Amino acid sequence: MTELVWKTAQETGAHVARVRQAFTDEFGVEPARVFSAPGRVNLIGEHIDYNGGIVMPLALPHRTFVAISPRTDGVLRVTSTQDGSETTEIAADAVAPGAVDSWIAYVVGVPWAMRELGLLGEVAGADIAVDSDVPLGAGLSSSAALECSVALAFDALASENDSDRELLAATDDGRKQLATACIKAENDIAGANTGGMDQSISLRASQGSVLTIDCRDFATTKVPLDLAAAGLSLLVIDTRAPHQLNDGQYAKRRAGCDAMADAFGEEFLSSLVTDGTEITGDVGGAVDRWREIVSAGGVEVLGEYTVETAEALLRHVLSEQLRVVETIKLFEAGEPTASTWSKLGELLTASHASLRDDYQVTCPELDVAVDVALDAGALGARMTGGGFGGSAIALVRADEQDAVAHAVREAFASRGFNEPHFLSATPEESAREER
Ligand code: ADP
Ligand code: MG
Repeated sequence: MTELVWKTAQETGAHVARVRQAFTDEFGVEPARVFSAPGRVNLIGEHIDYNGGIVMPLALPHRTFVAISPRTDGVLRVTSTQDGSETTEIAADAVAPGAVDSWIAYVVGVPWAMRELGLLGEVAGADIAVDSDVPLGAGLSSSAALECSVALAFDALASENDSDRELLAATDDGRKQLATACIKAENDIAGANTGGMDQSISLRASQGSVLTIDCRDFATTKVPLDLAAAGLSLLVIDTRAPHQLNDGQYAKRRAGCDAMADAFGEEFLSSLVTDGTEITGDVGGAVDRWREIVSAGGVEVLGEYTVETAEALLRHVLSEQLRVVETIKLFEAGEPTASTWSKLGELLTASHASLRDDYQVTCPELDVAVDVALDAGALGARMTGGGFGGSAIALVRADEQDAVAHAVREAFASRGFNEPHFLSATPEESAREER
């Protein structure tokens, strides 16, 4: 049998040494400090962060490391091991929406956003080297891992220069503020209008737990997840699907949801069925209300959706929110049993069906990965992240993980898809300084 390609996270000490070396090779001196932040998978709750829903991500063992030294001339010099091009240089005060058109937007946008939000004074400048083992563009949030490690770096440098300044990274509330800055950097400088799940988990994760994040106010709770104790694994399948023509697909759905929420007179669609984890309505009832609003002539603009096709958006958002609440209640019920895991599996698979049929954000590679994993014995499987490529997760028995991965690999080969890569997800720590 051909070997599977496993993308295992590097051991921390070795990765710190690597990013320090990258810094020294580029800038000729040792870096002052090193920070890191994790990528993530979302267990369940997809495409509902921007609908005020609850999401349940966990931080991966795979992390992005940044080595940094301050400069005094207001210049930011940035280099990455994952980017083949030369070191890029930009004056900190030249950073503005629309002014940065390369990957360094995810770096230089962060001090800009921190300053805009009053979390940072002047940006004095810095030399920065980046090295990551989070696969890029695989739906595992390399973008947030990069932003969040940079946020910690600028937070630390600012407190180093000002003994009265509290380190934001020292408290969960401070980390919540840093997450807001990272979201702003991604939205305004990198130009990606994403919700706040990725930055929140990267900055606020807790080892051994999934984090529930209520995206109305970013309140979090920890849900311990010990898969190993249950003889299970969370297999991540990076489909490596070629970039699809997904420009605007995310924005289109987001605009459709926002327009529907307006028509309902709600800030968030999730409020139609829940208030936090309390269930206050059902999908059928909300669809009926929608039809009443439509027939009363109360809807004019829905982005690119018609009043009919928008119903499918509504069904996904609301049913997904209810699946998340069910998942939370499963874990609240006490020590997980075999039935907990099989129910979790069913919820994951139902989530995928909804993303495929109603929200329509999957692709052939994601659907094949999920179907084949289920046929090979997975308890449940779904796409994770934004979709249109990227990764899927499968809840598998630990001793069947390899067999499931082989089945997916073979199915991909026989269809002429790219070779998938595999990771195993365990809930790891949030962004931190490395010493
Ligand atoms: P994801 O966050 O799922 O990996 P995104 O498209 O949101 O996918 O972000 C990927 C982009 O982030 C890359 O194309 C690149 O621009 C940037 N990026 C992330 N990590 C790095 C890195 N280590 N070096 C250079 N660019 C990076
Ligand atoms: Mg991203």
